[in-house]
Amino acid sequence: MSRVKPILPGSAIGVLGSGQLGRMFAIAARRMGYRVHTFSPDEDTPTGQVSDLEVKAAYEDLDAVRDFASGVAVVTFEFENVPAETAAAAESRAPVRPAGNVLHTTQHRLREKWFLSQAGLPLTPFRYVSQAADLPVALQDLGLPAILKTADFGYDGKGQFRITSQDQLFEAWEAVGQVEAVLEAFVDFECEISVVAARSESGDFVHYGAIENQHKNGILDLSIAPARVPPKVAAEAVELTRTVLEKLEVVGVVCVEFFVAKSGRLLINEIAPRPHNSGHLTVDANITSQFEQQLRSVCGLPLGSVKQLAPAAMANLLGDLWTHGEPDWARAAALPDVKIHLYGKLSARPGRKMGHLTAISTNVETALADVQRARHLLAPHS
Ligand code: AMP
Repeated sequence: MSRVKPILPGSAIGVLGSGQLGRMFAIAARRMGYRVHTFSPDEDTPTGQVSDLEVKAAYEDLDAVRDFASGVAVVTFEFENVPAETAAAAESRAPVRPAGNVLHTTQHRLREKWFLSQAGLPLTPFRYVSQAADLPVALQDLGLPAILKTADFGYDGKGQFRITSQDQLFEAWEAVGQVEAVLEAFVDFECEISVVAARSESGDFVHYGAIENQHKNGILDLSIAPARVPPKVAAEAVELTRTVLEKLEVVGVVCVEFFVAKSGRLLINEIAPRPHNSGHLTVDANITSQFEQQLRSVCGLPLGSVKQLAPAAMANLLGDLWTHGEPDWARAAALPDVKIHLYGKLSARPGRKMGHLTAISTNVETALADVQRARHLLAPHS
C-alpha cells in the first residue's frame, strides 16, 4: 500500500455532517492545531459551534460540496447517510476517508449483511423483504419473534417493528413505511458489545477492546468498558472487527456492534463507519480518544495509544431529561469522577441525544453506579 504524505497540523479538515460526533472530532482536531470546516443543511450546529467554518447547504447541492472539498486537505464524515453522489462530488476535489465504498456498504442494511455473509462473518439470520408478500415466507423461515427493519438506515427515522404474532404482519409492513426491508430473527442475547477500532492508510490496526452496551427503546443508554464478558469473547470480537476493517479496506474509525448469544457465540448486528456513541468514554478514559484516532487515521499520521487509563462507564443524556426543566448540572458536577459532555443542541426533544456523562473509577461496577447516580441527580426534583 502506498504511503501518502501526512496532512499536518495547520491544515483544514472537512466534516460532512454537523452533529455531536463532528463536534467531538472538531474539538480533538482543533486541540492538535488543525482547522475544521463543517458542511450540513443546518446552522449553529453542534459541530459548527466549535469549527472554523460552518457551511450551510443541502447535501444534494453538489457544486457547494465541490467548493467545500476544494477548501480542505481531506474530507471525513460524522454520519453514514451521506448520499453517494455527495461523497463522489467531494472525492473529485479532496480525498474522502473512509472512502465512498465503505459508506456505500454500511449505509444500507442489506448491502451490509451481504458484505458480512460474503466475508464469512457471523450475523443474525435474516431474510430480504422487498414486498408485503415476502413477509409470511420470511417469517416461516425465521420463526417468531422477529424484527422487521428498513433496508435503508436513513429512512425518516421509521425503523423497526418487533413481530411477536402472525397477525402483526400488515401492521409491521405499515410501520416500516412499506419499503425494502430486512426481517431478522430475534436474538435472545446475553448482552451487547461493540468494538471501536481504527485502521491507518498503511494498514495498522488499533482497537479499544470490547465495550458493553445497554439499550433502552433501541437507543444506547449505558456503555461500560471493559465489557464484562469472558476474555475469549472479547478477543474474538476484536478479531472479527479486524476482519471487517481489512475487508472493507477502511482508513478511519469503525465501530462493529455485536450480540453475545447465551451460548457465547458472537453475531454482528451493525457496522458504523465512524466513531460511535459507545466509544465516547474513550475521551476521558483512554490516552487517545476515538475522535483523535479518526483525525490521525484520515490525516495519515501514526495511530495513537489506545491504552485505557481506568475502568469507565458512560450514560447518555436524552432530551427527555429536560421534560421538567433544565437539568441540575451543579449536582452532577459535584461528583468528582464524573465528566459532563453537552452537545450545544438548541432544543431538547424526547429521544434526542443532548449529551452524555462519563465516570471513571477503580472498577467498572463503581463507574457504572457513579454515572447512573450522576444522571439521576441531574433530573430536576429527583
Ligand atoms: P439496531 O438499530 O438495528 O442496532 O437496533 C437497536 C437495538 O435494538 C439493538 O442494539 C438491540 O438492543 C435491539 N435489536 C435490534 N435487532 C435485534 C435482534 N435481531 N434481536 C434482538 N434485539 C435486537
